Amino acid sequence: MTTAVRNYSATVAVIGGGGAGLAAAVSAAAEGASVILLEKCATLGGTTGVAIGSYTTSGSPFQKRKGIEDSPVLHDEDMSLFAAHRDSLNNAPLRRWFAGEAPATLDWLLSLGLEFYGPSPEPPNRVPRMHNVVPNAKAYIAALQAKALALGARILVGHAVKRLLVTPDGLVTGVEAEGPGGRAVRVAVSGGVVLAAGDYSNGLAVKRRFLPEEVAGIEGINPNSTGDGHVLAEQAGAALVNMELIYGPELRFVAPPRPPFSQLLPANPLLARLMGPAVRALPRIALNRLLKRLLVTWQHPETALFQDGALLVNQRGERFCDETARPELDVPRQPEKSAWIVLDSVLAQRYSAWPHFVSTAPDIAYAYVGDYRRLRPDIYCEAASIEDLARRKEWDPARLGQTVAAYNRAAGGAVPDAQGRTRFGPPLERPPFIALGPLRSWIVTTEGGVRIDQQMRVLDPRGQPIANLFAAGSNGMGGIVIWGHGLHIAWALTSGRVAGRNAARGVGASG
Ligand SMILES: Cc1cc2nc3c(=O)[nH]c(=O)nc-3n(C[C@H](O)[C@H](O)[C@H](O)COP(=O)(O)OP(=O)(O)OC[C@H]3O[C@@H](n4cnc5c(N)ncnc54)[C@H](O)[C@@H]3O)c2cc1C
Repeated sequence: MTTAVRNYSATVAVIGGGGAGLAAAVSAAAEGASVILLEKCATLGGTTGVAIGSYTTSGSPFQKRKGIEDSPVLHDEDMSLFAAHRDSLNNAPLRRWFAGEAPATLDWLLSLGLEFYGPSPEPPNRVPRMHNVVPNAKAYIAALQAKALALGARILVGHAVKRLLVTPDGLVTGVEAEGPGGRAVRVAVSGGVVLAAGDYSNGLAVKRRFLPEEVAGIEGINPNSTGDGHVLAEQAGAALVNMELIYGPELRFVAPPRPPFSQLLPANPLLARLMGPAVRALPRIALNRLLKRLLVTWQHPETALFQDGALLVNQRGERFCDETARPELDVPRQPEKSAWIVLDSVLAQRYSAWPHFVSTAPDIAYAYVGDYRRLRPDIYCEAASIEDLARRKEWDPARLGQTVAAYNRAAGGAVPDAQGRTRFGPPLERPPFIALGPLRSWIVTTEGGVRIDQQMRVLDPRGQPIANLFAAGSNGMGGIVIWGHGLHIAWALTSGRVAGRNAARGVGASG
């Protein structure tokens, strides 16, 4: 049975309803353009909606209130320090441009009713620049969605864009999508199409082209980040840059069964207005508690924990790798792609106070073994013996006992380690014993994107703009290397804001 195609027309079509896409929809609609945003999932949000929500910039009113002297030039210089080993890959003019535009985007977000606390320090930033949205990252989505609808934008959820419509001479004239029930939808545009379909952290076909197989097979945190926008851009003749750059894979504890309190708070503007000043007035201790909750929910365990003696076991109670090498590549090969950290009380004691922490957002907050006991009972298990620990985890007690005994012989220098490990802490002998996990390995974000200019126009391999095609956010990274916290959201919202505005103004028409 064939179903009729549903036809729409608009000045601007936006592909993707995460931070970049919604920012593009709002700024295009604010220019008076008619806008249609297509989101493949049933709800808006994308990775932006599940993020922590930090936004890093210079020149904010929050910095000024605290008397912090800063500038985009200094910020851009500091961005280089976060990934010095990757900086040769950076698109320097574009990142400088981004540092200059990010303050205006924060002002724009404040004008939409969003609230922030901070700025918090994050070395090697020379001054505090990290601002956290209140109460959580869903606030970006809620505020932008409300504004887009108020400005008359049309939002079609459950619509996956499958194809760009391009004339033989290379003008992008619209998109084709698949709506609910497989219905074909076509949107014709006069101003432009903004690609804002997120990253390819979970796009196996795309990853396989650019990454080693052992990395490509590791899942992305957001299962919907399948690189559709990168593929669509390439089909229209766009160049892709830095596709081999990714953030991760990284070992992380699985998410708690119930989201943390801050994630449960409704992300509505009124609440944000009330909470913003309250959070900013919180004493350091209370803020620290809030941050610790985020740490034990999202952050990865430190490599030092393994170097000091922690083991990794799978659900058979067996070790499977040198924990001090690259365990994030070995964990995905284990049953259920999962592993657990095993400690004894000596190691747990060591990781109970500065400078030995299980996880951190450097110089902001630190989480110790006790924080995991208190805040993540779902991943914390303690027992008086190794065998009891195994029983509590429903593993084979004898096998876990053998695993730890064999490791202890190697750690004591009696025999070489069966996994080739050469760096050990003291043998794990002193009860109680602790298992932390499950941990899984994830690609957090990908850094490769469509090549763009400072108007967010998509470029072909010769550096020529593709007429009426724009890209933003993780889809349109343009070769900038932004490794610190809070820069990806700042980039998504800044590039989205500018892409939407330019598409509405017809900046892409000349091609
Ligand atoms: C756990 C976690 C925490 C993070 N925390 C932070 C943080 O605090 N600060 C920070 O700066 N960065 C953070 N990041 C990174 C940051 O969230 C992302 O890089 C950024 O939000 C990407 O925004 P985006 O709009 O480009 O993509 P997304 O927000 O992922 O939006 C893309 C949207 O496009 C949709 N889409 C995809 N394909 C199609 C298609 N074919 N048709 C229609 N729609 C489609 C997707 O479903 C999605 O909704 C975090 C990342 C993770 C994984």
